[in-house]
Amino acid sequence: MSRPIHAYIHTQALRDNLLRVRQAAPDARVWAVVKAGAYGHGIERVFEGLRAADGFSVLDLQEAQALRDLDWRGPILLLEGVFEPRDLELCSRLDLWHVVHHEGQIDMLSRHKTQLAQRVYLKMNTGMNRLGFAPARFRSAWVRLNALPQVDEISLMTHFAHADDAQGVDAQLQVFKDTSHDLPGERSLANSAAVLRHGTHPEVVADWVRPGIALYGSAPDHPLHDATFWGLRPAMSLRSQIIATQDLKTGDEVGYGGVFKAPRDMRIAVVACGYADGYPRHAPTGTPVLIDGQRCTTVGRVSMDMLCVDLTPVPQAGIGAAATLWGQASTSEVLCIDEVAAAAGTVGYELMCALAPRVPVSVD
Ligand SMILES: *Cc1c(COP(=O)(O)O)cnc(C)c1O
Repeated sequence: MSRPIHAYIHTQALRDNLLRVRQAAPDARVWAVVKAGAYGHGIERVFEGLRAADGFSVLDLQEAQALRDLDWRGPILLLEGVFEPRDLELCSRLDLWHVVHHEGQIDMLSRHKTQLAQRVYLKMNTGMNRLGFAPARFRSAWVRLNALPQVDEISLMTHFAHADDAQGVDAQLQVFKDTSHDLPGERSLANSAAVLRHGTHPEVVADWVRPGIALYGSAPDHPLHDATFWGLRPAMSLRSQIIATQDLKTGDEVGYGGVFKAPRDMRIAVVACGYADGYPRHAPTGTPVLIDGQRCTTVGRVSMDMLCVDLTPVPQAGIGAAATLWGQASTSEVLCIDEVAAAAGTVGYELMCALAPRVPVSVD
């Protein structure tokens, strides 16, 4: 038998989460963000669950190609736009919409030979200071783009830095409106956190929303709220099994460095899952794990291929018992990826993106 670790991608959960986003922003069209291989889930594997989206957003041209190979004929948006002139040829060939966030991309467009004018998203830097034209440069960029025969419709976009926290989106929204109020074109501002937390604000929702993490069933503002609060279901479950048990005496150590010492006599399990599977090595003693659907906690350091679990809550569990590292157990109990991430000092995004290629994946 092969090593028991396995990841599952849940098509119905993806569908339900997409519906949940639509409920939060009923008047907007939805770009399903599937960059980074659909946040580690695999574009091919999420496609069925997300095909009711209005468009897909990606970073890499290979991801755009993968969507066309799946026969997706609708809009595809390149979230960072093109990196070099020949990317524009693929934009023409694959009929991609692309973000324009600096002057060099306008230069490339002005030299691009094409029969079909391209749809572009002009990006404004409203305060996050990552990508986009400063407000003072935004209108001249629009004028330049608008004069190019290579350019069809120009949409306007920005990205929020505080949609998931108490500071909120007001300050950036104000900059966006002050700069662009009289420019034509569709608007797109909201990521998952903005849709869920500010979805009642029509100017935030605008014409197109760009949810990523919510589609995969993780709460964008954990620990303020959890996925259940937002009505989201895990789209990925990482499951394995117990491959050994040990009976410890008080004072016995567990794992590398012996960082865990048994405070009493206890039974522990060894689960076939380690950092080479994408499980976070920094997850400390006390990180939640489901064994036979019951909440347990890890003990000691996570190693490359294994981690250890305190079996006190499930004394009957033995070799072959089911372990759920995150997501839904086959018996339907849920351990939200955000809880595991928080214990390891990171976010659900990082864990799902880090699922290792050696883990077999099934779609259900
Ligand atoms: C990744 C990304 C999103 C999606 O963000 P989530 O927090 O996953 O919803 C939206 N817009 C842009 C520009 C992005 O890069």
